[in-house]
Amino acid sequence: MSAVYGSCPADIRAGIGPSIAAHHYEVGSEVVQRVRETFGSAAESLLPSQNGSTYFDLWAANQLLLEQSGVGQIEISGLCTACHPEDWYSHRGERGQTGRFGALIALNGSQHG
Ligand SMILES: [Zn+2]
Repeated sequence: MSAVYGSCPADIRAGIGPSIAAHHYEVGSEVVQRVRETFGSAAESLLPSQNGSTYFDLWAANQLLLEQSGVGQIEISGLCTACHPEDWYSHRGERGQTGRFGALIALNGSQHG
């Protein structure tokens, strides 16, 4: 958005919608390795473990990436799709037999600064 529209990251408001929460997102060593390569010293905070399994916190990872890009206004819905199949689709939660989300995004035509 900065490159194409000249957006200032500080002006951008980001929302992280319903999606799988860390407690349902168990990952294997390949993903753990990629997370460590991508996030460096922050990786361990994104990889909680429990009972010998490792999980990936997608919400925190996306928040961190947005913050690193200068986006300061971030809202996380906190809704886990796997916990609420009556309301949301979850590929993992429903083992692949599920629907798909659609999203609609619009640009406000007004110009700032
Ligand atoms: Zn859940």
